[in-house]
Amino acid sequence: MENVSFNIDGRTCSAEKGKNLIEAAKQNGIFIPSLCHFKQQNPLGSCRVCTVKLNGRATAGCTINIDKGMDIEVNTPELLDTRKAILEMMFVEGNHFCPSCEKSGDCQMQKLGYETGIRYTRFPHLFVERFIDAKAERIVVNQNRCIKCKRCFEEIKTNDRYQVFNFLNKGNKTVVTVDYEQEAKLSESQAEYAMQICPTGSILVKGKSVSKPFGNRMFDQGIEGKTIPFNKINKNNSNGQKKRVATTSLAGCFGCHMSLLDIDLGLVDLIEVVEFNKTPLTDIKKFSKRCNIGIIEGGVSNTHNFEVLRAFRENCDILVSVGECAIWGGLPALRNTIPLEDCLNEAYLNSLTSEENESVIPNHEDIPKILDKVYSNHEIVKIDYHIPGCPPNSNHIWNVVKNILFEEELTIAYPEFKYD
Ligand code: SF4
Ligand code: SF4
Repeated sequence: MENVSFNIDGRTCSAEKGKNLIEAAKQNGIFIPSLCHFKQQNPLGSCRVCTVKLNGRATAGCTINIDKGMDIEVNTPELLDTRKAILEMMFVEGNHFCPSCEKSGDCQMQKLGYETGIRYTRFPHLFVERFIDAKAERIVVNQNRCIKCKRCFEEIKTNDRYQVFNFLNKGNKTVVTVDYEQEAKLSESQAEYAMQICPTGSILVKGKSVSKPFGNRMFDQGIEGKTIPFNKINKNNSNGQKKRVATTSLAGCFGCHMSLLDIDLGLVDLIEVVEFNKTPLTDIKKFSKRCNIGIIEGGVSNTHNFEVLRAFRENCDILVSVGECAIWGGLPALRNTIPLEDCLNEAYLNSLTSEENESVIPNHEDIPKILDKVYSNHEIVKIDYHIPGCPPNSNHIWNVVKNILFEEELTIAYPEFKYD
């Protein structure tokens, strides 16, 4: 095969003529992210995560076959942002609750989320109602997480070459279907292979676990960032004035506050340079002074959360959403996929803990009204910073807060940056 020269971001590269761009770029030490591209399959071009520019035109990189003199842009600021936006759209389009997902830690989409540095999505989550098909003998398909990459469709076949997965409907309504008869013919290892090649947690095998402990996860071995030891607070930057901090927990589990407290003795250093105003840590209920920074845990689920968040925006110079619930609703937002009336009926009338024959859904003027869905904080007020994690670890939170307050240098260590 003839070798040809081409350019990527102004660098001369060479590869076999006709070779797929993603493979050719890799061969030249350039990584182009992709989710649907898989082995020697025909270019699928369905996820668009590999969007690059060929001779100035945006196109899916996996559909390009290398030819002499091609001029390809891959890592320009515009393309990096385009690919990030495409991924963000995938996250909001499905119901991706990473902290409770079986594939968390072993998921290619999640890994790309980390690699592209997604901390929050600029688009609102759709919280669509999707079907989970568990009728097949071993395989479960969770439509909530499917990105329609077609890998399962193209790759998984029975020994007599029948397809197991197929697509039904078109556009937004497309779903992956399972041919139960063919699925029953798959061996145990073939079923597990289907789970493995799915780039998300959409295909699972009953009774098989895919999650991995921290330290052994796909993205735990990444670029090491520099972290600042906690005891190096630059007190000079504060001009002798203590900075004022407020915190609150809206619709969250209080886990982010527990993480805040996890710095243990570091708190003693901290209170030399900051003072806490309104926060459950001091039990100060109302703002008595304007604060430099407000740390918000949890999203907005009821009218009280809404009022508290507005008060934080009014009384704090900088607001930081901490943790998944604050950033996009997190686990409380699981209810967003279910009509509110059904949620209330289940919680107050039909659940095991309801009083027998009790038929009252609490409703009193003193009780905050529950909202139609759980909102992320930046849907309600302007949020200046987002710290992902469920919960983020304590050093991570305080390093970011110190960085904001005292303008210290900070690079977050890659393994610390987690949202699952
Ligand atoms: S781990 Fe992957 S599939 Fe599961 S919710 Fe997160 S992104 Fe979606
Ligand atoms: S089920 Fe998984 S492999 Fe199949 S199309 Fe959806 S995301 Fe891709």
